Amino acid sequence: MKITDVEAIIVRAADQVTLIGDGTQDTVIIVVHTDEGIDGVAEVDSAPYVVKSIIDMPASHMACQGLKDLIVGEDPFDVEKIWNKMYEFAYYHGRAAAVIHAMSGIDNAIWDIMGKAVGKPVHKLLGGAYQTEIPAYISILMPDTVDEVKRLVDYHMKENYLGIKFGWGGLGNNFEKDCELVRAAREALGPDKKLMIDIAMEWKDYKVALKNCKAFEEYDVFWVEEPFRVERDKDFTKLRNAVNLNITAGEELFHFDEFKKYIDNGCVDILQPDISRCGGLTVARKVRDYAYNAGIPIVPHNFKSGLLLSGTMQFIATLPNALFLEYCGQETTLSRGLIKEPIEVHNGMVTIPDRPGIGATIDWETVNKYRVG
Ligand SMILES: [Mg+2]
Repeated sequence: MKITDVEAIIVRAADQVTLIGDGTQDTVIIVVHTDEGIDGVAEVDSAPYVVKSIIDMPASHMACQGLKDLIVGEDPFDVEKIWNKMYEFAYYHGRAAAVIHAMSGIDNAIWDIMGKAVGKPVHKLLGGAYQTEIPAYISILMPDTVDEVKRLVDYHMKENYLGIKFGWGGLGNNFEKDCELVRAAREALGPDKKLMIDIAMEWKDYKVALKNCKAFEEYDVFWVEEPFRVERDKDFTKLRNAVNLNITAGEELFHFDEFKKYIDNGCVDILQPDISRCGGLTVARKVRDYAYNAGIPIVPHNFKSGLLLSGTMQFIATLPNALFLEYCGQETTLSRGLIKEPIEVHNGMVTIPDRPGIGATIDWETVNKYRVG
């Protein structure tokens, strides 16, 4: 089998794009075509126009080529070889961020092809499933007011999620207000559900972070996510050792080496790689194995449409120490309408897709309606 083409399709529900922390307002879909009529699909959580350029760009010279030109003609089953080829030739674009995100999309689409070619779900190719379903927590943006926090808890928790994560919004800039919002969330949730808080890298001062985490302990916060920019790995370790709640990160990390550093240096209690950013399933499975050996559980970052969710579920199936799934609470056109068989939550549980490949069928009507590139 040979790869014949790679498409990067930008989808944007334009009238909904605002400057809030909502990654479901637009997206980029990767389609890898083969000469046997099997197409692989994947979604990338990144800067869509940048990812498309990295894939589509015409060659400048031998050492500077777009990812599409690099992999056309390759056999999808040579997935590791293809990954290394893309990485090697990413010298000019930069072996980081959007390049690794674009590589991740291609890599995940290739895993989809391999699964479809052998008629098995991708989790079979990744080593086998430890679970067929997983409890979910609902992941939403932190609103501005206590009343809205309570309303959102009441609205979402009817589905009996394992818990709720509030993130982004204005968190991280006002100690009193943050404590008020977190207290309101705990009161609305009751004592038995998990409460997670995502600071989205807003804390600049270590002492402010420590003071906040100590205050959050009173409200039984299960984890604080991304307290600092991920470059501040030493502050992660210091904070983790000083508080009685879990510290998490991983969505901004790419390449195995960064995850290894975070594990080796004791930066986090739980790792959150995003399969569309970390280098794809080819890297995610290595992170999984290294983290498992170190006793660090993985809860993958997942805040896009059902297409990324499908690939993420394949990965979650293979986690020997899985905890739960991040289920994106943004009820937008793309988050809910991009694939034909949406992955739904029933009484807090989500079933892992068992169809060949990643188990998702793109709804091309939605894609074509909102396609902008
Ligand atoms: Mg986050």
